[in-house]
Amino acid sequence: MTITGKQLIAGNWTDGRAGSFHGVNPATGENLEPAITAADEFQVTEAVNAASACATEFANLAPAKRAEFLNACADEIMNLGDELLERVSAETGYPLARAQGERGRTCGQLRLFADWIVQGEYLDARIDTALPEREPLPRPDLRSFNQALGPVAVFGASNFPLAFSVAGGDTAAAFAAGCPVIVKGHNSHPGTSELVAQAIDKAVKATGMPAGVFSLIMGSGRRVGAELVKAPGIKAVGFTGSLQGGMALFNLANARPEPIPVFAEMGSINPVVLLPEALKEKAETIAEGFVGSLTLGTGQFCVNPGLVLAVEGEELDRFISATCEALSKVGCGVMLNENTLAGYQSGVARLRDQEGVEQVGCGEPAGDDKGFTCQAGLLTVDGKNFLANKELQEEVFGPMSLVVKCRDRAELLQAISSLQGQLTGTLQCTESELAGYADLVEVLRQKVGRVVCNNFPTGVEVCHSMMHGGPFPAATDARFTSVGTMSIARFVRPICFQNYPEALLPDALKNSNPLNIARLVNGEKTSDAI
Ligand code: NAP
Repeated sequence: MTITGKQLIAGNWTDGRAGSFHGVNPATGENLEPAITAADEFQVTEAVNAASACATEFANLAPAKRAEFLNACADEIMNLGDELLERVSAETGYPLARAQGERGRTCGQLRLFADWIVQGEYLDARIDTALPEREPLPRPDLRSFNQALGPVAVFGASNFPLAFSVAGGDTAAAFAAGCPVIVKGHNSHPGTSELVAQAIDKAVKATGMPAGVFSLIMGSGRRVGAELVKAPGIKAVGFTGSLQGGMALFNLANARPEPIPVFAEMGSINPVVLLPEALKEKAETIAEGFVGSLTLGTGQFCVNPGLVLAVEGEELDRFISATCEALSKVGCGVMLNENTLAGYQSGVARLRDQEGVEQVGCGEPAGDDKGFTCQAGLLTVDGKNFLANKELQEEVFGPMSLVVKCRDRAELLQAISSLQGQLTGTLQCTESELAGYADLVEVLRQKVGRVVCNNFPTGVEVCHSMMHGGPFPAATDARFTSVGTMSIARFVRPICFQNYPEALLPDALKNSNPLNIARLVNGEKTSDAI
């Protein structure tokens, strides 16, 4: 496939009319060919109008037909072959193995949604048949299920060029729900975005989907991204990125005459709590796992463990020195782009300047070539300074973590209580400690979307039970996940039909149960026809 630098608007490839830019190879700092054109506001409107025009048709397709489309997207992404992997690597600095792993995750995600929607569980079909003889009042026939919200705007993430971008989790969930998608591709990997859009375009055509079901728009977030969120035809937004970006879009969406939900997954420092018995038993083993998690993907994961909390003492010192020892062998890593490197460097400098913060460990120094390389590190601070300074809770996106040395158990509990919402909270503990620290565990549960026990937070499994979200500011709505099949719930809404003619009901609610799905009929789960 050839990268053309064009926009894909409802099946048509066309040059953007608002200038052009280049992708950059972060390992060398050099521009990548070709130039990528940027869309103007009329092209955004065109894409939204096409999505609105086909939204009902797409929503009303049988789940099996949408599953066929999702599987075709996965097939076409695989058909892009090594060209896709090489472009991902050139645009992100990720090794080919990471690109390959992420492609597997992306295609697996599309196929998982395909399997899931034909089971019909996400439709949550409920039927309460009429009770005409009921006293004192008869009950009418009532039937509800989840229907698609309408066109969804998806913002590709910088750090997951495949799995959280053009055909990533948000797009897969929206398609699965029956929502057309318009992606605002991330400018950090525009060639990758186009290749994946070419694959989706082929899948749209091969499975006979309406053309408006998918568009890819490139350009500046503040311009085309904002236009997209403001467009009246857009009914929801999926976003992964910074707190600043997510909140800007959230505020725009809420200022619309018709406000819409923005499902933004934003910053998190993912606290790791080290309990004393576990430290005593295996401080060095925990340190080894921790450094692996901290430096994976050059620390550019939203679940990167940026904070460690423990009670001070000999065991914690053993953990810190083993961590520093392992870190000293970590080579400098390539960051995704110039902004991410600048954000990391200024974030680390800001943390280092705070009262009581000391840098105790570091990886190999950053290279002095033109690439965007950075150095990993470890900082410490005592519990008192941590509690007095909210700035120490601000995320530094990259391979840097802060160890908080608490005076005693009470201060540890206080430090955890002071945390903002997080995607994850990790406990390194023995089983008996887990029961003995029930108060601490309860507080941690209030703060996070996922509690990790004697594992590390990196590596977010795509499955039915995953919760990747959390209380604000980790996400804009703690009730939803952006990974796994539960994430489809963001893009549907319940609708109830009262006393509606049987023959005209949606298939999910017909007496004969043509979709053969499990439904709640008069309070009992059954796949039987009525
Ligand atoms: P980002 O700046 O939030 O950008 C994500 C997407 O949102 C981009 O397409 C961006 O467009 C758009 N956008 C950002 N601000 C916007 C606004 N005010 N109005 C409309 N659209 C907007 O996230 P990022 O590019 O992944 O990372 C940027 C910095 O955020 C990094 O340096 C990193 O330190 C930090 N960060 C990232 C993550 C993450 O998980 N990705 C997490 C925490 C922190 P443009 O590209 O045109 O701006």
